[in-house]
Amino acid sequence: MMTPVGPTRPVAQGDALSTETAAAARTDTALSVANLEVVYNDVVLVLRGVSISVPTGKIVALLGANGAGKTTLLRAITGLLDVHRGKITKGSVHLDGKDITRAEAAAIVRAGLGQVMEGRRIFAELTVDENLRTGAFTRRDKAGIAASYERAMELFPVLATRRKDTAGYLSGGEQQMLAIGRALMAEPKILLLDEPSLGLAPLVVEQIRDIIVQVNDQGTSVLLVEQNATMALSIADVGYVLEHGRVVKDGPGPALLEDKDIREFYLGMGDVGRRSFRDVKTYRRRKSWGA
Ligand code: ATP
Repeated sequence: MMTPVGPTRPVAQGDALSTETAAAARTDTALSVANLEVVYNDVVLVLRGVSISVPTGKIVALLGANGAGKTTLLRAITGLLDVHRGKITKGSVHLDGKDITRAEAAAIVRAGLGQVMEGRRIFAELTVDENLRTGAFTRRDKAGIAASYERAMELFPVLATRRKDTAGYLSGGEQQMLAIGRALMAEPKILLLDEPSLGLAPLVVEQIRDIIVQVNDQGTSVLLVEQNATMALSIADVGYVLEHGRVVKDGPGPALLEDKDIREFYLGMGDVGRRSFRDVKTYRRRKSWGA
């Protein structure tokens, strides 16, 4: 489970990271993680040399079963490991060419990284409008914030009709849209989404998928962490499979969607046809990518 990205620690206004990054031209790589190792409580090694890359303007899917280390990787990227007694012990994270390894969470947001956490962590007691405005906490440019707000209203017409409503009363899908809209209020260069389809009905999952594509079409790079491999790989330019803290497979999204192992492991389809969910779960317990 993730903790909300927020101004949890004081960061000096106009710190070097944000100023430099704002001035920098975009690189070909929106996010680069190189040989990352993460340890919890000084002893539990969870990420064992993970390298992934999100090309600028692309969608990258990160797949993996429960406990593979997906959330840990997101925590490491977003500067939220220390809240969980975790530490990067090796490797690096670069955002649009800038080293953000071990940088503070709020500085990473200002450098251009937006995050939608698992479980749609909206502020249930605030209105839709108030939730969206909290997403602009790192910004001071009123005109720019207003433009971002209008963009969110256009992307999510359903939120426009409910802007004064208490967010806690929205449906699951609407809350997911609100969480994405809030992250976009910071105008991130790259958006990290942690299991956005979790617990949503198939039709709503399709809506969320279409929104992710739209956001990407508007110029935001995307790192999509999902257990719903069909959804993720149907829109991903590139995909990675994480297992036991290691990348065990990677390749173009369409190729992975056709990959025999992935079809068996994540989509429940082997040579013998569709397996039952129970079979797949048993199979998942038996099979390891590394084996
Ligand atoms: P899920 O989809 O279930 O969230 P995940 O792929 O996101 O799984 P992580 O949550 O990153 O996996 O967990 C990877 C491993 O790290 C697991 O074995 C987990 O028990 C361990 N872990 C996660 N958080 C901590 C923590 N704060 N302290 C110790 N171990 C942790």
